[in-house]
Amino acid sequence: MAEDRNTIIEAARKAGIVGAGGAGFPTHIKLQVKVNVLIINGAECEPLLANDKAQIVHNTSDLLRGIELAVKATGAKRAVIAIKNKYKDVISHLRKRSGSVTLEIFELEDYYPAGDEQEIVHEITGYTVPEAGLPLDVGIVVQNVETLINLGRAIGGEPVITRTLTVVGEVAHPGVVNVPIGMSAKEIIESCGGLTCDNPVLYIGGPMMGVVQDSLDQPVTKTSSGLFILPADNFLITKRSISLRHILRQAQAACTSCMQCTEACPRNLLGHQIRPHKIMNAVTLGLTEQSDVFMEAYLCMFCGMCEYVCPMWLSPKRVYEEVRASLQAKGMQFERSVKSYQDDPMRKYRRVPSDRLIRRYELKKYAVELSSEIQQLDSWKVRIPMSQHLGAPASPIVAEGDYVQKGQLIGEIPENKLGARVHASIEGRITYAGTDAIVIER
Ligand code: SF4
Ligand code: SF4
Repeated sequence: MAEDRNTIIEAARKAGIVGAGGAGFPTHIKLQVKVNVLIINGAECEPLLANDKAQIVHNTSDLLRGIELAVKATGAKRAVIAIKNKYKDVISHLRKRSGSVTLEIFELEDYYPAGDEQEIVHEITGYTVPEAGLPLDVGIVVQNVETLINLGRAIGGEPVITRTLTVVGEVAHPGVVNVPIGMSAKEIIESCGGLTCDNPVLYIGGPMMGVVQDSLDQPVTKTSSGLFILPADNFLITKRSISLRHILRQAQAACTSCMQCTEACPRNLLGHQIRPHKIMNAVTLGLTEQSDVFMEAYLCMFCGMCEYVCPMWLSPKRVYEEVRASLQAKGMQFERSVKSYQDDPMRKYRRVPSDRLIRRYELKKYAVELSSEIQQLDSWKVRIPMSQHLGAPASPIVAEGDYVQKGQLIGEIPENKLGARVHASIEGRITYAGTDAIVIER
């Protein structure tokens, strides 16, 4: 491969690639690290989503190219892709196609949250990412499947202008779709046969860690992995709409300090000192934020396992969300210390199979076998947010009335800031150009 490291990193920057599986960390920065192991996360952490699987099958060449480029940029000595062992056909497809690319395939069991990057790091290497740390702290970088597909394309000059996501739940024809960035959820749902309930609530993401939206008009961004639609009276929605005040009152009245939440917490099982039963105890006793127990909120990844196992239906996760937001607002940071970690000997036995979680949350009717096909959708109007990534929002470089080509640069990284470029996902006229978003109509 002729490209040198700087060319690869520059291609990622120019194309506006961000981590497609998480918070959207700019990839050109993440590729600048030197590591021993590159892990490709194809685990599809959330139940019901199937885009990683579909993409590994349909975009294999771009993925393998992206892996080679990422190995070259980071100097990784091993490249390992994590895929759930239930996807036998996907694994066999990849084994046949990987050819000259030296790629190990690691088969994960089907439990939640198998796709958590710290969980994957531990499964594959035995290393534990330190508390409030990154895989880089143990010489590893984790990249999502779609991120590396985008890198494989970027080296040929293609910017990130589409997103592949799963549409599932109360929709007539659930499936995996590829859409222009900025297309509205409503239009995508209509293209998938429309809604099948009268009072829909939209999650962007999956049922466990997805974010509930105010309306169906939300645009798809570079980090949207799924559209999941539930009726408003579904148990998950009711649970999420309970106020924090009510949760705290419930905790006072009902928390039995049974510790089941702590025993099931994936991060606690890895050896991190996060104890959800203690935060419930602390808030009910009215302790102050000076307590170490509050600082443990920085170790929570908001996976929701603690609320899943709680026999009283309480939510330590919601309490941690509030506590962390309050600590951050006060500028209080977690102080990292050097320590060794010992995972819990019961770790493997406390895992919850994805299927059990689906049944318990009354989601079985949505757990349909999705085809590996990817349906291509297009739109006449897109609203492209300037902030789809970690860091500063992109600065618009076009104005209302301008005519843009598909793939044209419309948002630039502000000087000396962490950020990612933004490109036009369709050809057309700019009908709105603000610092928050750019709207293009065909
Ligand atoms: S599992 Fe529920 S009842 Fe038990 S300690 Fe945790 S929050 Fe309290
Ligand atoms: S949401 Fe609950 S189970 Fe998940 S990391 Fe946080 S405390 Fe642990």
